[in-house]
Amino acid sequence: MTATLFSDAMVWDGTSALRFPADVLVEGQRIRAIAKPGELSVDGALMVACGGRTLMPGMVEGHAHLSFGGAVKDSDLGNIPPEEHVLLTMRNAKTLLDHGFTSAYSAASAKLRLDVVIRNAVNAGEIPGPRIRAAGPEITVTGGLGDERKQHMYYESFGMIADGKEEIARAVRLCCREGVDNIKVNISGDDLGPLAHGGLTVMEEEEVAMAVKVAKSFGRRVNCHARSAESVKRAVRCGVDVIYHCESADEEAIDMLESVKDRIFVGPAIGIIYATLHEGEQWGFTHEMAVGFGMQRVIDTTAAVYTQLRKRGVRALIGGDYGFAQTPQGDNARDLKYFVDLMGYSPSEALQCATRFGGQVMGMSSELGQVKEGFIADLLLVDGDPLQDVSIMVPKENLLVIMKDGVMHKNIADRAQAAQHSIAAE
Ligand SMILES: [Zn+2]
Repeated sequence: MTATLFSDAMVWDGTSALRFPADVLVEGQRIRAIAKPGELSVDGALMVACGGRTLMPGMVEGHAHLSFGGAVKDSDLGNIPPEEHVLLTMRNAKTLLDHGFTSAYSAASAKLRLDVVIRNAVNAGEIPGPRIRAAGPEITVTGGLGDERKQHMYYESFGMIADGKEEIARAVRLCCREGVDNIKVNISGDDLGPLAHGGLTVMEEEEVAMAVKVAKSFGRRVNCHARSAESVKRAVRCGVDVIYHCESADEEAIDMLESVKDRIFVGPAIGIIYATLHEGEQWGFTHEMAVGFGMQRVIDTTAAVYTQLRKRGVRALIGGDYGFAQTPQGDNARDLKYFVDLMGYSPSEALQCATRFGGQVMGMSSELGQVKEGFIADLLLVDGDPLQDVSIMVPKENLLVIMKDGVMHKNIADRAQAAQHSIAAE
């Protein structure tokens, strides 16, 4: 069995606001022991001298779109041929792992089998990538977010269109048959889409209920796109597991989310909103246009709603619709700073959304997302203290070690130590 001994680390274990000095022993896939510095020694172990740097759990992207890349408009996603799309998704998987995301909970895939085939290839050790819970395409009603078809010509979309209980049931079963772990339904519209705006609740209650019922029969999770207050309530009533956006939740909707907080997760997906408003110029989104799309309003309401949800203990996930032109894959950890700056999370709370809650949404709460004896060894060695500044999690140069499942994906700790020593010697 391979063994790795991390010595002289400052461990942030994913549960508190503090780091503590420790050595951590990894054997095989798991964390075997955590002890005071100098107490552990193992013959034949790979030694990683941490030099007082931060050893923490690998991050979990909680709103992953592995098959999204560079799209300016939603319809761009439907224009990518399947062959190129597989390669794009494969590259994105590696990009996420290179940036410290050892797991990806997929919000939706742009074609039915893209997440599935990449998940399987990663699991088989054929390509590098995070641990993936694969999603199917966004199941949407005619005229909803993801229906990009045109009346006068055949046109591919990134959504899977289904109307009425029977078609919804068939779409969900098809996704299950093809191997997805997460079903996605678009209950509300969206302000960046050309059709139904975010205030409209376009998927009927009986359709949502049917999607959840069929998904549960197959043992799958259900994610939803829910911007309007009514769509959030509909999602809670129907038993949806992960409710994304929620920025227009009213008091009743917030109460309902709190009442099921041990069962559900929420995710603001704020990255795309912020980037469209402040950094979208080069992609054709002038500031005036972005304000016109309601982006400032979404930021303000998201800040207010998630401040409430945080105080009430509703678990939020990071992940901000990375994979569009203005939100390139790899920037995903930028969400941490939005949680801190806009929604009042402490750095430790934001990092827990990216680690411990991530392990929970992956369905692996007792073995993933913490530095804890017996847990899976998904570990990052970070050059700096993210509890002081969460933005250091974004540049991949700050990640000296990336370990997934006890296997090194990246290890430049020696180089960093050598550089530190040569500076000290000068
Ligand atoms: Zn999304």
